Amino acid sequence: MTKRAQNAQAKENCDPVAGKVVPLIDRNRCQDEELCVAVCPYEVFRISTLGPAERKTLSFFGKLKALSNGYRQAFVVEPAQCHNCGICVEACPDDAIRLIPTNVTGDDSD
Ligand code: SF4
Repeated sequence: MTKRAQNAQAKENCDPVAGKVVPLIDRNRCQDEELCVAVCPYEVFRISTLGPAERKTLSFFGKLKALSNGYRQAFVVEPAQCHNCGICVEACPDDAIRLIPTNVTGDDSD
């Protein structure tokens, strides 16, 4: 099946309206598998490198894992495009993605 056909099939399971949830990536679990990038039909993710501030937030084992991958991990670059299909959650072998309802993300008024 082509990527286009996979995306069309995946979109059938999605909410018609985006923005009800956003993916949250556990930095201590993500290991640069890139499956979320491959399966998301809305291009919500991109692989990039953790910066120094993000590296400081990692646990001891998180630092070891991240170092072994050259600090490459998935990042949510288009959160407003998430259509809540859950495919990324199922695809991630590291159990590193959760979908968080946008109405409970807290005060956004800074
Ligand atoms: S749930 Fe995951 S795969 Fe589906 S649209 Fe949102 S980020 Fe993309």
